[in-house]
Amino acid sequence: MTGHCRDFDDLRERIAAIRDISHIRALAHWDMQTHMPPRGAEARKEHLATLSALLHERLTDPALGELLERLRTPAENLPPDSEERAVVREMARDHERAACIPEELMQEATRASIDGLQSWLRAREEEDFRLFLPALEKNFSVSRRTAQAIDPDSHPLEVLLDRREPGFTCADVDNIFSDLKGALIPLVAQVEARADRVNDEVLHQHFDSAKQWELSLRAARSIGFDLDRRGRQDCSVHPFTTSFSSNDVRITTRIRDHEFAPCFFASLHEAGHGTYEQGLPGKWDRCVLGSAASGGMHESQSRLWENVVGRSREFWQFFFPQVKRQFPAQTDGIDWEHFWRAINRVQPSLIRVEADEVTYNLHIIIRFELERAVYDGDLDLRDLPAAWNDRFREYLGVQPKTPSEGVLQDIHWSGGFGASFISYTLGNIISLQLFAAAEREIPDLRASFRGGDFSPLLQWMQSNVHAYGRMLEPGDLIAQATGQSLSTAPYLSYITAKAREIYGL
Ligand code: ZN
Repeated sequence: MTGHCRDFDDLRERIAAIRDISHIRALAHWDMQTHMPPRGAEARKEHLATLSALLHERLTDPALGELLERLRTPAENLPPDSEERAVVREMARDHERAACIPEELMQEATRASIDGLQSWLRAREEEDFRLFLPALEKNFSVSRRTAQAIDPDSHPLEVLLDRREPGFTCADVDNIFSDLKGALIPLVAQVEARADRVNDEVLHQHFDSAKQWELSLRAARSIGFDLDRRGRQDCSVHPFTTSFSSNDVRITTRIRDHEFAPCFFASLHEAGHGTYEQGLPGKWDRCVLGSAASGGMHESQSRLWENVVGRSREFWQFFFPQVKRQFPAQTDGIDWEHFWRAINRVQPSLIRVEADEVTYNLHIIIRFELERAVYDGDLDLRDLPAAWNDRFREYLGVQPKTPSEGVLQDIHWSGGFGASFISYTLGNIISLQLFAAAEREIPDLRASFRGGDFSPLLQWMQSNVHAYGRMLEPGDLIAQATGQSLSTAPYLSYITAKAREIYGL
């Protein structure tokens, strides 16, 4: 690559500026959702639009395309583990995707998502799906045309899926879903027959907000998210994680006075995302490689700490005394095991974000099947609410009474339509595959949780996942870290064993 050194330096500089703009845009977004006074919204919309246009301009710059073209062959001749090779590959991917979307379509998409959000909120308030339908149709049309602009020869859902989860196909999704449905639907029925074995009343009492906040910080800190020098937590309506460098990672949570779980588990979930962002190599802060490998890989880290660790016996043997100290009256006469069962209660429900580990994936399967039916022309968007309700009855045995408990519950379809939810299920599956691999390599991994030591697991994730950023494609990263390609087996054996233990099946 010696003859191309200057080109490569030029590429690095261009990428660094693109990353800077993107991080500043993320900072403006974070502020909008955490600290901005309401009257700031008008001006902020303009700030964000200008930054997005600037970013698009830099990303689609023809000079960048020519530079990448000149570097393509020399990069391909480098060894597979070369950093330069991965930088050229990943930047070419970002450039090509941005470049094939016409400017007008980009702007149409931005407007459609702003209108979509407003009509989604209004439709929820009035409990009337018809108020959302025009925006939904618009978003579907924009998503479909975007997919066609990227690759006119493929099924649009295939293109949208690959955009979110590189290298992942609809056939892979089919295989995963058929495994999950085959195991989970009968499991839910078995658990339901023994529903009275778990009582979770302890979680539904008054819990002082300030004390919940303190406890959530303690939980995030205990799993190894650095809140002191490299991160912070704030409150927002929808919890999220964002970062401006590996040394500045922001998480948010939300607090409900009469529920224990939402704040605590949102913090653990987002802190899990946060460990990934803090674990990315600092040398890549201004490089295209300094991001998570995919949406599914990112979710694998959040679900790992929220569920696999955060709902484990060993975690609660360690952490329950802290809950007891914080909330002595609410936990009077309750031991850790009772509490652990309560936070693992399985119950078919209507709302995805509140669903337990066993039923959660069925919520995702329903959404993906509906998206596919729409793209295949088998389902008209007008009939989406009825189709939604039918599938909930079929898979979960529950029936929404209002649109906001059903088809209008998620924000996702207000800003696009297609492959919007799949990362959550992939995250669940990958989290268990990674955890099983870590358990094989680290003796007494679970026992270390009992003493409050999560560093062996975190270090394993850092060196096997975080350290790679976008160096490897997600499929290759999973294979390298776990010795096998993506598999539902570890997840299914985990979830079945847990349900058996808690419900005595
Ligand atoms: Zn998440």
